[in-house]
Formats: sequence, C-alpha cells, structure tokens
Amino acid sequence: MIQRNLVTCAGIVLALALAVAPTPAQQGKKVYISVDMEGISGINGDDQTAAGGAEYGRARKLMAEDANAAIRGAFEGGATDVLVNDSHGGQRNLLPEDLDPRARLISHSFKRHGMMEGLDESFDAVIFVGYHAKADSPRGVFAHTGSGVVKDLVVNGKSVGEGGMNARLAQWFGVPVVMVTGDDVAVEQQKETVPNVRGVVVKRAINTRAVELRPLAEARREIQTAARESVAAATTVPPERVRGDVVRANSYTVRMQFRNVNIPEVATAFTEVRLVAPDTVEFTRTSMPDAYRLIRVLYRFINPD
Ligand SMILES: [Zn+2]
Repeated sequence: MIQRNLVTCAGIVLALALAVAPTPAQQGKKVYISVDMEGISGINGDDQTAAGGAEYGRARKLMAEDANAAIRGAFEGGATDVLVNDSHGGQRNLLPEDLDPRARLISHSFKRHGMMEGLDESFDAVIFVGYHAKADSPRGVFAHTGSGVVKDLVVNGKSVGEGGMNARLAQWFGVPVVMVTGDDVAVEQQKETVPNVRGVVVKRAINTRAVELRPLAEARREIQTAARESVAAATTVPPERVRGDVVRANSYTVRMQFRNVNIPEVATAFTEVRLVAPDTVEFTRTSMPDAYRLIRVLYRFINPD
C-alpha cells in the first residue's frame, strides 16, 4: 500500500513537473520594438517631432514613456530579451537613461534597415510603437512614408506605408508583427498588411494635424496590457523566404512615386531602377531585405539640394 502510494506520489510529482515545465513556446521570448514618434501619446506638433523644436525635449520623454509601457508589457508577457530601435528622423530621440534599463537600444539613422535595423529570424515578436498613416492619407497625424519626398510606395502591387513596408520585412524573417500603437488611421492601415495585429489607438486623428488625445496614463496602461497579451500569445510564422511558391516569394517589385522628378532622374544610376513615369521608378529584387535597403537609399540618401 505504501509502495503503491509512493508510485502514485511519484506519478503526481511527474505530472506536476510536466505541467509547470516550460514548453519551447513559453521559454524566454526575444522581442523587437520599433519606435517612431508621430504616433506617440500626447504628440501632435511639428515643434515636438523635429529635433531642436521648442517642445522636442518634452516629446522625446513622451516617446520613452510609450516605449517603456511596451517594454514592461513585453517582459510581463514572457520576453527575456527586448531590443528597441529608435525609428524617427535622425533616430537619436530616445535617451538611454529614459528607457527601461532591461532593454537594449539601437540609435542613429545611418543604417541600411532603418526602422527595422537589427531584426532577424531569432526574434519571436515585433511591436510597432508610435506609428503614423502613410503618405497622402486624407486623414492621419503627420501622414507620410519614409520621408517627405515620397508620394506613394507600392510593394508587389500593394500601396504601403512605413508600417506595411516594415511588416513585409518582418514577414520575410518569419517574425509576427503582434502589435501597433498610433492614431486610429495608422492602426487601421496596419491591418491591411497584418490583419490580426493588436492595435492600440492612443489618439484620434481629426485631420492630418488636429487630434483628440487620450489621457496619457490610460493610453500607456493599454499599451502595457496589449504588449503583455500579444507577446504571450505570439507564435512564429513560416518565413516568407522559404514558402512554397518560390517565384512569388522571392520576387519583390517596388514602385516609388515621388513628389518631384529630381530623385527619379538620378535614381536611374542604379541600373535596375527603371523610370516608368517622370516622377515614378520601379525595380525588382529577389529578397525583401534587399528591396528594403534600396527603398531606403531612394527616399533618404539622395538629396537634390
Ligand atoms: Zn515615420
């Protein structure tokens, strides 16, 4: 009887051990957070988003607060490693001393993968914080794509903003974009490339400038909760680069329409860049990171002035 009880006890102990043992999906997750500025809680002015603007100092603190809410949530949701990439303008807005000390920070804009620098297939989830609507959206605070020179960016026939372009890169690596924060238009547009993304609307765009701001504490609470829940639920997806239809998966045709003809004209120095209209170029690359790098060169590193 005693022996039988011991066996039963051993069985119970084993069952309990199996119940609490982490499955691979529950082990520490690696989370990537790209933080832009226009879609941050409390921000709606040029003097906030431009380095040197009168309210820039305040705005970068607000940016750190939204980022920190996402970082806290990510750790609560099972992350053991969080990488933050400063993704706005010169990309030196976040001060390391303002950031949750558990997170690592990538700073400065001279990087090939810009808003997605440092992402690779080792991550389990991507979070976009402070994102905005794409260029020429009729509504959406500070709507633009990449920089002020782009009128439209089309990847494989689909018009995308920064959130869409960045999601395509994450999809290439097989890392799910689990959450986005920004104004209501940015969140809605993100669903076009990531239908199941968890959205946190921190402000309502009245037009491209005026906004209705949510109370800061309430917005940050929701960011933290959403980050916790979406990181906990994150499951990796098959990377696009090895999906069955090799021809489709490995061909990225990019069309970029600019606000003037200057950049398109000089961009044809890249032999694969075709001029398809005076203000529009097109090119095809065989990987999304490769396409991403050229998109970035074209909108950021050619200066007609
Ligand atoms: Zn941006």
